[in-house]
Amino acid sequence: MLNYKYKFIFDLDSTITKEEILPIIAKEIGLYEEMQILTEKAMNGEEDFEQNFKNRVNMLKNIPIKTIHKIVENIKLNEYIEKFILENKERCIIVTGNLDIIVKPILKRLNMEQRYFSCIGTVKEGKIHTVHKVINKKDITKNFDFDFVAIGDGDNDVEMIKLAKIGIAFGGSRNLSKNILDNSDYIFYNDKKLYEFLNILL
Ligand SMILES: [Mg+2]
Repeated sequence: MLNYKYKFIFDLDSTITKEEILPIIAKEIGLYEEMQILTEKAMNGEEDFEQNFKNRVNMLKNIPIKTIHKIVENIKLNEYIEKFILENKERCIIVTGNLDIIVKPILKRLNMEQRYFSCIGTVKEGKIHTVHKVINKKDITKNFDFDFVAIGDGDNDVEMIKLAKIGIAFGGSRNLSKNILDNSDYIFYNDKKLYEFLNILL
């Protein structure tokens, strides 16, 4: 029998991290602005997520995966969310629309290598080769057989936030769209307050 009420489902980009990951990688090849614009379009639901995501990954295909990992290793995480995940590892799951082969260093840092769902990519000759599978957060979370709290910032988090017992929009890193604001039970802009609230739900 479970002796607790909820598991905690976290989005990764701009929820756990302080910035979107793909634009930071794109800086390496001078395409930060372009990637940032495309990313915001996806996060605000202005373009089909899957096609937009594949287009964005395509832009990174010439960067060695080793270079990508070095960049990702140094991406700033939100210290309070990092702390919560490290303190409650067994109750946390990351559900990210990002690629497994890109976000690996962060999963490792958070000790979450066995506790995530993501899009799946393949590597060939040291570079990103294909986007093998794009996940939909609704399809992942609708099959969960436990009650959960979902925390996210983007339009692709809205469906899992709706399915959650407690859906939280976190606007600590970027502006939240009307869609996510309208569909969340709680909205936090302050990470320390969010951390305190999650601890009350434990
Ligand atoms: Mg996000």
